[in-house]
Amino acid sequence: MARRAVLVVCDSLRRDLITPDVAPVLAGLMADACSFRAFRGVFPSTTRTSSASIATGCLPGTHGLLGNTMALDEGGGLVCRSVGDPDFRDRMRRATGGTLRVPTLAQRLADRGGAVILSNVSPGAAYFHDPDGWGWVYHRAGSYGPGLVPETGERHLAIRIGAEGDRTMTRRFCGEVLRERRPAVATLWLSEPDHTGHGEPLGSPAHRAAIRAADDRVGEVLATVADLEREGDDVLFVACSDHGMETTRRTVDATGRLVAAGLKAAPDSSELVLAPNGTGAVLYAAPEARERRDAIRRFLEGEDWVGRVFDGPELASLGLPVDGAVLMALTTRADRSPNAHGVPGHADIVADPESSKSYDGFGQHGGLGIHEQSPFLVVRGGGFAAARATAIPASLIDIAPTVLRHLGLAADGMDGRPLPMEPPPMTSA
Ligand SMILES: [Zn+2]
Repeated sequence: MARRAVLVVCDSLRRDLITPDVAPVLAGLMADACSFRAFRGVFPSTTRTSSASIATGCLPGTHGLLGNTMALDEGGGLVCRSVGDPDFRDRMRRATGGTLRVPTLAQRLADRGGAVILSNVSPGAAYFHDPDGWGWVYHRAGSYGPGLVPETGERHLAIRIGAEGDRTMTRRFCGEVLRERRPAVATLWLSEPDHTGHGEPLGSPAHRAAIRAADDRVGEVLATVADLEREGDDVLFVACSDHGMETTRRTVDATGRLVAAGLKAAPDSSELVLAPNGTGAVLYAAPEARERRDAIRRFLEGEDWVGRVFDGPELASLGLPVDGAVLMALTTRADRSPNAHGVPGHADIVADPESSKSYDGFGQHGGLGIHEQSPFLVVRGGGFAAARATAIPASLIDIAPTVLRHLGLAADGMDGRPLPMEPPPMTSA
């Protein structure tokens, strides 16, 4: 009996928005499979960081990818860079000597059945699932096989972001990848409902339609998995999201605030660099600016858009490095107030000077708000209890070790732990 793992990520889908009317397949899985109701993301709760954490089973401080944007010193001082840019991998190699500091599932499985991912989110999120090309990554910006050899022509995944591209990608995933190629781990990373959630109000008809579309895709994969099981495969099926979303209350020029307060020399100065990550931010400091730490913390804690500030050992509790250039991290202020569609949760976001898009009134994430930290996780097959809902702690970083256990492989060097197959059921109050 062939042991395989199939993972489907519905980007940004909040656990509380999975209801039988909007997402019947996922609501059914939440009832019939093993559902981890206390599942959490990482910090920053951005897709690129989350992709690396799912792939490595490690926290950002361990794997080294610290957000959708992060500061790098390539020799000319600290500069904030977008992880989404096509040249970011090369910049990271120049600045740090490599990409992720720990192996991915694709590397661990290179000689043990291999890993294939089809992803329709940002290029950076797709490529940081397997940045050094141990397996196969298919993405609309460029598809690559082992050794980062391009997959061209018909082999390339020529789709567009959004529900229609997700549909084309899923058809190929179910047919070519699951039925024909049969890798040890196959991952499908849908762009919805994230893509629509960033441009429409949460809970609006368009957002609910995007959730429904993602739910339909999960249903297609589930039907294929059921066929594989009938043919004798032992499939560990995991469906999850990488984070949720909060509704953006307002956008704050955090870097400008630091400059105006005399704590940073200029918007583009390199001694202190703020890397915006939606509802979170990470501050990096060169040695000469590290003595400003207490003053910066006092300033931030007096700002009405700041929720919590973390520095020193608190960074480790967030899963961030306590050495290197990271000085401090913050989450913006979040509350539980509902938007016009009755979806609770608002938060301020930190402006990204590189992006002209406005998120005000739409979904965003990156910090530690209740709803952005409430993604969903259901596990089916592989010996996991059925019809079980549990409130035990679970995290994105537990997925990789759970997959390796199913495949009979060691999960050494991971921050995460394999999820219990018989977790204690939730007690009803
Ligand atoms: Zn995401």
